Amino acid sequence: MSLSFDPDRLDLPKGHFIGGACVPARGVLPMHRPSDGKEFGACPIASEDFVDQAVATAKKALRDSGWATCPPRRRTNLLHRWADLMEAEAVTLARLEAFCSTRPVGQLIEGDIAVTAEQIRFFAEFADKEGGDVVPTGDASLGMVMSEPYGVVGAITPWNVPLSMAGWKLGPALAAGNAVVLKPSELTPFSTLFIAELAERAGLPSGLINIVLGDGPTTGAAITAHPDIAKLSFTGSTAAGSAIMENIARTGVKPMTLELGGKSPQLVFADADLDLAANAIVTSILANAGQACVAGSRLIIEESVAAPVVAAIAARMKAVSAGPTWDETSTYSPIISERQLQRIHRLVQAAGREGAERLVGGAAMDHPGYFYQPTLLAGVQQDSPAVQEEIFGPVLTVQTFREEEEAVALADHPVYGLAAGLFTRDLSRAVRITRALQAGTVWVNRYSRSRDHILPTGGYKRSGIGKDLGREAYLANRKSKSVLIAL
Ligand code: NAD
Repeated sequence: MSLSFDPDRLDLPKGHFIGGACVPARGVLPMHRPSDGKEFGACPIASEDFVDQAVATAKKALRDSGWATCPPRRRTNLLHRWADLMEAEAVTLARLEAFCSTRPVGQLIEGDIAVTAEQIRFFAEFADKEGGDVVPTGDASLGMVMSEPYGVVGAITPWNVPLSMAGWKLGPALAAGNAVVLKPSELTPFSTLFIAELAERAGLPSGLINIVLGDGPTTGAAITAHPDIAKLSFTGSTAAGSAIMENIARTGVKPMTLELGGKSPQLVFADADLDLAANAIVTSILANAGQACVAGSRLIIEESVAAPVVAAIAARMKAVSAGPTWDETSTYSPIISERQLQRIHRLVQAAGREGAERLVGGAAMDHPGYFYQPTLLAGVQQDSPAVQEEIFGPVLTVQTFREEEEAVALADHPVYGLAAGLFTRDLSRAVRITRALQAGTVWVNRYSRSRDHILPTGGYKRSGIGKDLGREAYLANRKSKSVLIAL
């Protein structure tokens, strides 16, 4: 069966999802399809009152269902059933994801959908394996550390990989016994709404997952500040992360996980497998047209091997062609919005004015919608905005080095520390540089996430606080209570 579809005939969810049902709402924010620029509808904005209702629904669902206190295998089994349904409904889910996001439909079933279902199963398995501890306090007492869920967890997600981001938040929170009020990006809410509906069909208690639609300043801020939201999990830009911290400081105190922006370097040494390095680097910057938090957007390469690696990257970049996300054969993503496309272009032009050499690209593609040419910039200075700012587009800068220390110094970013790549055959150097790099993830001789969900992901510096994935993400959704019983 073909996955390609007619975007004008797709049946879209029509409102928020509260208490196990769609709550129709009037659209306010105009929505556009990145693949052709067409305005197709509008996203509602949930007010503070409405967020209140969603939180009250989540609290009631927790109370009525016993989700937090049931035999934990019940949570495991229901979450497995939910993951199975995601796979069974993969075609519908893929089309809803591809419709107004940047994700080509042909890449989703084996990619984001399979990975999201796997991650839900991964977290489901923690529910009956992670508990508290009995601790040594002497014969006169019994000391214990009990582990408990928070209650209602708030989650806010970005547009760049909407489904995966929803999975990152919902999986550990639900497995750990919480209910969730989630706000997806106002640009790409449909796959999140659909998986909430699938959770209902899988038999998860109604009201455990509530999806409220809206923008950051209204709906996102109301979730952040809500007194009955006991913990917040956010993924998005560093600027919004700062605004959220400020809001939390002003309105109360609550733990938060912040997964924020990045400007990740890729270090290539002359002794590396250069074909492998070129391939991994170009794949990373072309994936989702560079709209990935971990996009390896700064190539830092030993001078003596720069020419062949840059030539190989340039050749792959020149070979991409634009096509709408709803065509199964499309592989290259559009940019999410016209505004973001213009921002990318402004940064590329500014680099040109500063003397950067455009080896490939540097302009919007001649195609409807918001496609930008893969762009390769050489001769950039370390303090150039093209090197310092998260462009969030298909733009790779090239810097060269002669000495190892120089490479590490160039890699170090004053603000971001999300991920880094390192290509070398010298094991000692690999370990030495991995230790020196200030990044939450270091990939050696590869540049991509694996399907080993046990590896936590998160940032150093202002790329974030706390981790998604891994055991850490599960534990971040539970709090501990110390108990001392006199005997
Ligand atoms: P964004 O910060 O503009 O928005 C993210 C979400 O936050 C959206 O749902 C938005 O409505 C909401 N929001 C915005 N301002 C808010 C506020 N003041 N209070 C509460 N909510 C608010 O980011 P984006 O453009 O959607 O996504 C791109 C950014 O996300 C990039 O910086 C990227 O690096 C980052 N990202 C990080 C990771 C990671 O794992 N570290 C993963 C994906 C994306």
